[in-house]
Amino acid sequence: MTARAWLFDVDGTLLDSVTGTSLRPLARELLTALRERGTPALLWSAGGADYARRRAEAAGIADLVTAFHVKAERDGRGHWVLPTLPPEHAPAVLVDDQPDEVPRAGEVLGVPPYVGPNPRDTALAALLRRLPQRTEGNP
Ligand SMILES: [Mg+2]
Repeated sequence: MTARAWLFDVDGTLLDSVTGTSLRPLARELLTALRERGTPALLWSAGGADYARRRAEAAGIADLVTAFHVKAERDGRGHWVLPTLPPEHAPAVLVDDQPDEVPRAGEVLGVPPYVGPNPRDTALAALLRRLPQRTEGNP
């Protein structure tokens, strides 16, 4: 099976890293677009899987997330170790505000840290543009 899931960091990537409550602009649009394409969207956080789920619920995006995981340990190079995932959740894309810490398990997309609430942040626009456009009758 070809890897196609997207694996997102939480703090500083989808939610601001100071209050943890501001959803990054276009995050909902990006997750919705993935959902529409049947692409699993996974969240993982050093704060734990439950933390990631709580943050997503509070931000109102939990319904768009396929599964939640923990960044539990690092390998010898300082990369987080991927959780055990079912084959259909193998990540094709890994999005993180600290891309140097992400394992090269797929395409790593770094985004600038989303530090505090900022309605002008546009970092996720580039990711939205990467998605193949959907055409009527041609899923
Ligand atoms: Mg982060």
